[in-house]
Amino acid sequence: MYDFHTHTLLSDGDLLPSELLRRMQVLGYTVVGITDHADAGNIDEILSALHKVEKSATSIGIRLLTGVELTHVPPVHIPKLARYAKEKGADIVVVHGETPVEPVMPGTNHAAVTCPFVDILAHPGLITREDASLAGKHNIALEITARGGHNRTNGHVVRVAESTGCILVVDSDAHHPGDLMSERDREIVASGAGISGELLKNLLTTEGNEFYQRFT
Ligand SMILES: [Zn+2]
Ligand SMILES: [Zn+2]
Repeated sequence: MYDFHTHTLLSDGDLLPSELLRRMQVLGYTVVGITDHADAGNIDEILSALHKVEKSATSIGIRLLTGVELTHVPPVHIPKLARYAKEKGADIVVVHGETPVEPVMPGTNHAAVTCPFVDILAHPGLITREDASLAGKHNIALEITARGGHNRTNGHVVRVAESTGCILVVDSDAHHPGDLMSERDREIVASGAGISGELLKNLLTTEGNEFYQRFT
């Protein structure tokens, strides 16, 4: 199993990266993205801390993908900051999309899907077909999220992704140990969002997931 979107004490999560990784190992994860909330003020600290725990992840059999979630960054600054994250060695740049439960600035989804340094647009709310098409064109994954509130529009996200050819990922956006998902939880989140059949099976595994192929 994979999870490309989690939080630790480096932002507003409960756990040290090492404890999160150990708990995920026990649940059967082999690929974990730690993507703490970042803006221009803390991006260096997050990435340098994550790079220091990469070795301990490897030693317990987990591939740690170091990342950030650019959160409430004004859309005009997203391209520059996403590029900066990649220059600082981030494996994954997530953008905190226009969820229906927070006043994320309009234009955030659009800035994310037009930026070549963004990998995942998290909880993109009522994303437009036009922006979903751009995400497809730029190989940016749209996220199906387990997180309460953000998950209200999962069904919409699956529909527009399927009709525009976007890659999907299923993530926990975990902040607390109780947010981490079992295999069954992941199936419920994905199938509850309207995904079925072959896509469901491929989407949930590291081998079949189209997004993860870029790291192999
Ligand atoms: Zn958070
Ligand atoms: Zn998040």
